Amino acid sequence: MSAQILSGKEVAAVVREEVGQRVSALRDRGKSVGLATVLVGEDAASQVYVRSKHRSAEKAGMLSFDHHLSAGSTQQEVEDMVRRLNADPQVDGMIVQLPLPGDLDGNRAVETIDPAKDADGLHPFNLGLLMLERGRLQPATPSGIMRILGYYGIETSGKFAVIIGRSFLVGKPMAMLLGAKGADATVVQTHSRTRDLTELTKQADILVAAIGRPSYVHGSQIKPGAVVIDVGINRTDDGLVGDVDFESAVEVAGAITPVPGGVGLMTVAALMENTVTAAELSIS
Ligand code: NAP
Repeated sequence: MSAQILSGKEVAAVVREEVGQRVSALRDRGKSVGLATVLVGEDAASQVYVRSKHRSAEKAGMLSFDHHLSAGSTQQEVEDMVRRLNADPQVDGMIVQLPLPGDLDGNRAVETIDPAKDADGLHPFNLGLLMLERGRLQPATPSGIMRILGYYGIETSGKFAVIIGRSFLVGKPMAMLLGAKGADATVVQTHSRTRDLTELTKQADILVAAIGRPSYVHGSQIKPGAVVIDVGINRTDDGLVGDVDFESAVEVAGAITPVPGGVGLMTVAALMENTVTAAELSIS
């Protein structure tokens, strides 16, 4: 058996088209849509991510504002930049590219963002709304994953979902979205202290791996026919690989996201969706 490939590329193109239409409808009402990024330092991977966010914003017809601060910037300088963008009427959504270098505190920088312009959906206010199931700006990666599941008509209601990882960026909000009313999965969240992880993963109808360890989950740990969402992005000598061992998993799973070409593209698409939503909310 070979699993169906859940193409982030295909879904992202659909989302980008929808976002483009919403941007154009706002333009007709005299409202431009702008995304700003704040990048601190010279990390190569962060620069690649930021460039792809600008490309995607421009393709969707948005204005994009690229702010690059030196690695030696102080916390105050980073937060002052965020406050400037909070006050800028051309900026509807912004992201601070994480992680920040050195001793800079990424959480504090994110907390400085106006929650109404929080394109990554990671401000504590928006995470609180997520918990109340009233979130409008949702964490981009889990939100992108929900779009993939929706696009491919994957039923989540009553399904047993196991999430490996509990970061506030991916694992925790993923658990909330899958377990929320409407999605209705039964969710178990696991982490590095979980005992007998394989006992759980082998029962999972939906398995989400957000670990940060190359090819960590093997096909033998997956329930036959399961939907496997590989969030991992790991740079190895063999190139970019996920947290799931694709070769063995694809033989067992019913459906699987590839790396690259899966969740990563959806994260960017969800970011665009949040930005246009923020713009719509700002004039409603
Ligand atoms: P993170 O903050 O480092 O969290 C990793 C999580 O995995 C932690 O909760 C950790 O448990 C858990 N973990 C580590 N080893 C484990 C093990 N052996 N068994 C079970 N759980 C284990 O990472 P993250 O930000 O969530 O990112 C995870 C991965 O996704 C990374 O590869 C990252 O690059 C990628 N990512 C991709 C996208 C995308 O757009 N595709 C977006 C964000 C992140 P503890 O809490 O106990 O330490």
